Amino acid sequence: MRAAVFYSPNNISLEERDQGHLSGHSQQRGVLVRMNACAVCGYDVNVYRNGHIKVRAPVVLGHEICGELLESPNIASSRSDLNIDAYNLGLVEGARVVLSPVVPCLNCIYCDGGQYNLCTNLGEIGSSLDGGFAEFVRIPNNTLKIGGLIPLPNTLTNEESTLIEPLACCLNGFKRINSFVSDVMEEKTFVILGDGPIGLIHLQLAKSLYGAKVMVVGRVKHRLQAAKNMGADAVIELGENKGSPTSIIKEVLELTDGKGADVSIIATPNLDAYEMAAGIASKNSVINVFAGMPRHRSFRLDPNWVHYNQIALIGSFSATPKLIHESIELVAEKRGINLSSIITHRCKLDEIYKALEITEEFLGLRVVINSF
Ligand SMILES: [Zn+2]
Ligand SMILES: [Zn+2]
Repeated sequence: MRAAVFYSPNNISLEERDQGHLSGHSQQRGVLVRMNACAVCGYDVNVYRNGHIKVRAPVVLGHEICGELLESPNIASSRSDLNIDAYNLGLVEGARVVLSPVVPCLNCIYCDGGQYNLCTNLGEIGSSLDGGFAEFVRIPNNTLKIGGLIPLPNTLTNEESTLIEPLACCLNGFKRINSFVSDVMEEKTFVILGDGPIGLIHLQLAKSLYGAKVMVVGRVKHRLQAAKNMGADAVIELGENKGSPTSIIKEVLELTDGKGADVSIIATPNLDAYEMAAGIASKNSVINVFAGMPRHRSFRLDPNWVHYNQIALIGSFSATPKLIHESIELVAEKRGINLSSIITHRCKLDEIYKALEITEEFLGLRVVINSF
């Protein structure tokens, strides 16, 4: 099979691989999925350029996956608390599926509580295990056991389905935000720091779920235009000749009659976002750190500012299969979530370098590999 294999920073190699490679150990064998489409995430570019502590090379990257199931799973669970039968309904040979890339240990306190994304011994498809930049991907049993392979309704295309996974991650963030902001969401101001695909999915969610007022801060003109088209109430440009973090803070405060943001979402690896989030936060507000950062970055925080203003500084990472199910329903209901609008480029697997470059240079929004 054809695969794009990551070996080390700046070294991805297109190779023919033996399919026997996919058979794995019998206990962890799982099922095979033939790839239909795989989106290129900012994380993939970060790994390609810098490597990552989670990545054990050589490995195939790609975790935003839509494929076709080649065999029905045969999983016997020793865990009665997991309702596998209900979860795995529809997982028949030939079914189109999306994936939760989470591979939990099923043996730690977080797994016991169903918080598989927080597993202390977490494996991830497309990171520590081979992912979707290949003709086939193997889904381990532990992912099947938590309902991590999910059949798709016919109404969703292969391409838009690749973005179910990032949508579920954003939904995870919103569930956490919800537990801190209990008042009427329609009256709240969300400021999204980052104009990339993830920022724009957050925008769509904040509009669709809450009808909140949403501002998007970013550096890329065509992305800010896309944010406007998707219903942003204001877009604010940050750049060399444009706003500095200080002027962005001023602008947000002016637009909110001096109050600032009720919810700030950091959806960029740009460290300036922290200064901005702190500057625009209203009292009693929530800041969600959604984006991962390159290593060895830090930000100074005044404990008194957190204390006297009742700031909730939270994080959110990845998603559970339950959130993937919910995300499929959200998109299928067509209530303002339009994942197709996030996809701007299509490439073949052989064009993986081009796909990574388009992502790295912010030439569009998401690039989808749709031919293997
Ligand atoms: Zn991703
Ligand atoms: Zn675990």
